[in-house]
Amino acid sequence: MSSRQRFDLLRTASELGRLGINRGTAGNVSVRTDDGFLITPSGVPTPRLAPADMTEMDLEGTHRGAFAPSSEWRMHRDIYAARPEAGAVVHAHAPFCVALACRRIGIPAFHYMVAVAGGKDIRCAAYATFGSQALSDAALAALEGRTACLLAHHGMIAFAADLDAALKLALEVEELAEQYWRVLQIGEPIVLPDDEMDRVLAKFETYGQPRKA
Ligand code: 13P
Ligand code: ZN
Repeated sequence: MSSRQRFDLLRTASELGRLGINRGTAGNVSVRTDDGFLITPSGVPTPRLAPADMTEMDLEGTHRGAFAPSSEWRMHRDIYAARPEAGAVVHAHAPFCVALACRRIGIPAFHYMVAVAGGKDIRCAAYATFGSQALSDAALAALEGRTACLLAHHGMIAFAADLDAALKLALEVEELAEQYWRVLQIGEPIVLPDDEMDRVLAKFETYGQPRKA
């Protein structure tokens, strides 16, 4: 693992704080390495951390370093183990995601952008105690065919190929949660039909600039 990864991991965690997506010591971030992953330490505010403080873990759950890993290391570990496309994971107590998750409601296709997380909706995982294997199991189930989900009475989790993409996705999911929350204030949202979401998901495959070879 490179010192660049340590720096980028801390930068991403700090950015979540700066944007008001995580406050205090809420949330955690990780990045896949050659032999496991690097994760933010548990219970330490990001302004007090240096890149060298990021905790190294293997996929068996053993950690190395001065700081104990995030209490949510199981969710991160299980995503890396189950989803080979995952290069980075962001867990956040993003305010609008929390609002929906406290009503145990996911985000339906009220807006075509829900496809950003890979499917026709963004599910809300069943409740389980923070840091537990049960929470990780619930999150992995809600992430089936998706790259983000809400966590009941807790927040959200998102993963992508790298830290920048995982941060971007977490912000997009929080924006969708805010928009959905607003729509709920003015009436019953109208959900896009399945066949339209099939078209949207197909268009997302080629959206943006052509991929460089
Ligand atoms: P950590 O400080 O252990 O990462 O915990 C924060 C959190 O969000 C627990 O769900
Ligand atoms: Zn949390």
